Amino acid sequence: MKVFARTHMGKVRKVNEDAYYIPAENERFAIVADGVGGHRAGEVASHLAVDTLVKYFRTHEGPADDLLKDAIDGANRVIYEQARRDRDRAGMGTTLTALIFDDQWAHLAHVGDSRAYLMRNGALMQLSRDHSLVGELLEKGEITAEEARVHPQRNYITRCLGVSRHVGPDILHMDQKPGDLWLMCSDGLSNMITDPEMAHVLAGITDYDAGVDQLVQLALDRGGRDNITVLLILREEDEA
Ligand code: CA
Repeated sequence: MKVFARTHMGKVRKVNEDAYYIPAENERFAIVADGVGGHRAGEVASHLAVDTLVKYFRTHEGPADDLLKDAIDGANRVIYEQARRDRDRAGMGTTLTALIFDDQWAHLAHVGDSRAYLMRNGALMQLSRDHSLVGELLEKGEITAEEARVHPQRNYITRCLGVSRHVGPDILHMDQKPGDLWLMCSDGLSNMITDPEMAHVLAGITDYDAGVDQLVQLALDRGGRDNITVLLILREEDEA
């Protein structure tokens, strides 16, 4: 497994409230979180989420489903309690998208609108469902993908960590195939460029490290209105 990652503040925001984790050697999980809340609280929330998950995954074993559910539940509680204790952090929250790989499967859990895509055989599929107002309108067929990207309430997420005592992630499992390329990103990428544009960049990649730069640059060229985080995870052809 090879992983490439970038995060960028973008051209408008003064802080980067995104956080991510890429696996160390012998680890097989990756995380993206996009925080919300004033007074830098969003930054606190996204880092709390990532740190809590990493710690949990490092110290627990078991079925990926349980690991994901329990770790996310723990992260939610940590953020929720801190937001209640500290007035500066009231109302803070974060999206969370996490992938755990085993030999056969990729296990995806997510809350909010940070996305996970899989590029397989030249086709790009969005596997996470946005927990957002525009995501719901899109699913009901009330707006188009193009309208969703410019919708005035496109930043309104309907589910996130830290705002209520309990949160339920969506969990999904995919078989793994050699050559699979996973893309995880915050909405600072997916609101700035379209899925076909993403697919076009990914299809043309020869150097993955340059590929993540190319995706970030494209989002910046389009205005970079938000923090941009991109992870590419490649399962190599000869991997067991
Ligand atoms: Ca964002």
